[in-house]
Amino acid sequence: MMSKPVNPLTQYFNEDYPKQYQEPPAVQGQMSPLPDCGEKSYKGSGRLSGRKALVTGGDSGIGRAAAIAYAREGADVAINYLPEEQADAEEVKQLIEAEGRKAVLLPGDLSNEAFCEHLIKESYSALDGLDILALVAGKQQAVENIADLSSEQLRNTFEVNVFSLYWTVKAALPYLPEGASIITTTSVQGYNPSPNLLDYAATKFAINGFSRGLAKQLAPKGIRVNSVAPGPIWTPLQISGGQPGEAIPTFGQDTPLKRAGQPVELAGVYVFLASNESSYVTAQTYGITGGIELA
Ligand code: NAD
Ligand code: MG
Repeated sequence: MMSKPVNPLTQYFNEDYPKQYQEPPAVQGQMSPLPDCGEKSYKGSGRLSGRKALVTGGDSGIGRAAAIAYAREGADVAINYLPEEQADAEEVKQLIEAEGRKAVLLPGDLSNEAFCEHLIKESYSALDGLDILALVAGKQQAVENIADLSSEQLRNTFEVNVFSLYWTVKAALPYLPEGASIITTTSVQGYNPSPNLLDYAATKFAINGFSRGLAKQLAPKGIRVNSVAPGPIWTPLQISGGQPGEAIPTFGQDTPLKRAGQPVELAGVYVFLASNESSYVTAQTYGITGGIELA
């Protein structure tokens, strides 16, 4: 099959976005334009045949792109999300089942340790195994002034973005076989923090440290741990307070590639890091940033 080179500046949506706001966690199905999670475009080639994946945040955005790609590569997939996101999750379930793969919907709040344990047990039993943990869920609320950053938000951002990683990995380790892959989701914010994301950016710095240390701890067990660092990607997170409203129209245009990324542009890396192709890759971070350097 021929594959022509395509200009990355114009390959995906590259105009101003319409102003829009939804209460978090926001429903992707109500965004305009709809994020592209590879629903129509991602083509698999058996790279994850027979694998069993849990994707947190798998209803929308980057997690949805990973979930669709995993199914098209031959994996059975469980997704976690919040109950408010059921409509998005049902769409993902249909897309996974259209590939002839098993789809398991496990809504619930990752800021609750007992739920994280339940999520892992349910994923393992419903999928009849577990060997890919793609930990993509995250919370981001921009606050201009530290004086206005509530302790409630501070705690919840750390619980969802950081503590849940400890809780899910702890619960999963007894089940994960040799060759399993854990993928966390950091951000350019984990390298170069914005002034209005003091809590969120700090969680992403924490994810960097957690992921790299965990990779060294689990290497002797034959389990790899890597992280993906997205730049500005068009997802529900951003239009539900992740950015101030006035930043939405030109979101992503200050990157070298002059546009926001689409979730599907991350799918290949989530697949690569999950698959045996990345057998010599652990303790690494892959940037998908439109050209923003991770430094
Ligand atoms: P998204 O809104 O589609 O995904 C985030 C998901 O997190 C939600 O769908 C929701 O299911 C989940 N979530 C939030 N709070 C939760 C809770 N308490 N319990 C369970 N699930 C919860 O947006 P996205 O941009 O695809 O976000 C995915 C990841 O990518 C996040 O970790 C985010 O920090 C990271 N990221 C995004 C960008 C970006 O520009 N969009 C940039 C860098 C990093
Ligand atoms: Mg969502």
